[in-house]
Amino acid sequence: MSLSANAAVLNEISGKFTIQPIEVEEPRVDEVLIEIAACGICHTDLVVSKGALSVPTPVVLGHEGAGKIVSVGSAVTSVAVGDPVILSYSSCGNCGACTSHQDPYCNEFMPRNFSAARTDGSTAFSSKGEKIHSHFFGQSAFSTHIVAPARNVVKAPTDIDLDILAPLGCGIQTGAGSILNELKVQADSVVLILGAGAVGISAVMAARIAGARSIIAIDLSEARLALAQELGATHTVRSDGRSVSELLASININGADYILDTTGVPALVNDAVSSLNIRGVIGLSAAYPHEQMMEVDFASMMIGGRRVQGIVEGSAVPQDFIPKLISYYRQGLFPFDRLIEHFSFSDINEAVEACESGRVIKPVLRMR
Ligand SMILES: [Zn+2]
Ligand SMILES: [Zn+2]
Repeated sequence: MSLSANAAVLNEISGKFTIQPIEVEEPRVDEVLIEIAACGICHTDLVVSKGALSVPTPVVLGHEGAGKIVSVGSAVTSVAVGDPVILSYSSCGNCGACTSHQDPYCNEFMPRNFSAARTDGSTAFSSKGEKIHSHFFGQSAFSTHIVAPARNVVKAPTDIDLDILAPLGCGIQTGAGSILNELKVQADSVVLILGAGAVGISAVMAARIAGARSIIAIDLSEARLALAQELGATHTVRSDGRSVSELLASININGADYILDTTGVPALVNDAVSSLNIRGVIGLSAAYPHEQMMEVDFASMMIGGRRVQGIVEGSAVPQDFIPKLISYYRQGLFPFDRLIEHFSFSDINEAVEACESGRVIKPVLRMR
């Protein structure tokens, strides 16, 4: 038995998304079938659609889905038919990282999130008998219906719309989690956020929750910086060719206790490292090219007790952290809905363009 759905299929790298009918398999024993209500667009979808990480085509991308459970596999007990859920990344549940509450560092993180298939190589989608890659981030949520491992889903509240909640599963969790879970920003500290996109502004809001004294956002766009300021940045600086230390000096700041990079721009990271205070830490939470080297001054890292920290998905276990973010949202402390602009599913290519141009910080597709 299979079910008919509509999905935005990427038929070739660097192509456009084409909405077309597909067949979706029944969920396996540990999977759930979900009717997707909404899906955020994350920068990772865009870089993958251009060939990063060699994800195979034809493929359905999308990894910030939210929807309702339609059916569950026989071994699933965590959710039931009719439950609203938010989807997040995939992890195995059995490795050392997964059993010690470090799910983003799962041994199988790369194959489970980027091979666009189940771990046995099978896919849940097809069209006229031809295989279409599914399970991107365990979900492939640019589709009206998907199957996903039950481990990927977080139960959602019933009183907040799914088209608001959808992006919590990746970008927003990454920014906020980097600050709260991994860097563990302390009250009265100085925090520098490189980039004021969805991840960066989520980090700004989280740094405010943590009680940081100075929260500085650096970006190329005045509009993004204005929003960062509204949502908690105490200082914003437009990047204009000057070095990070010069930009900080222009606002009378000597250095930062915490720096979070959300840009993935190696030259900017290399430049920013020298602005770390003693005992400072720089967190790397974006996508970085493999062949680029990080340049750090050995002596100043050692003598000042400074650190560089890689961060995946905000070091967040979604089932714990997403409910926390929703609780901050309810208290008015984490207004992440301000980042969202909605698009209808059929306008996915326009939404991608708006995301790429920077006009929209977090496009969210509504499936109907
Ligand atoms: Zn694992
Ligand atoms: Zn993402």
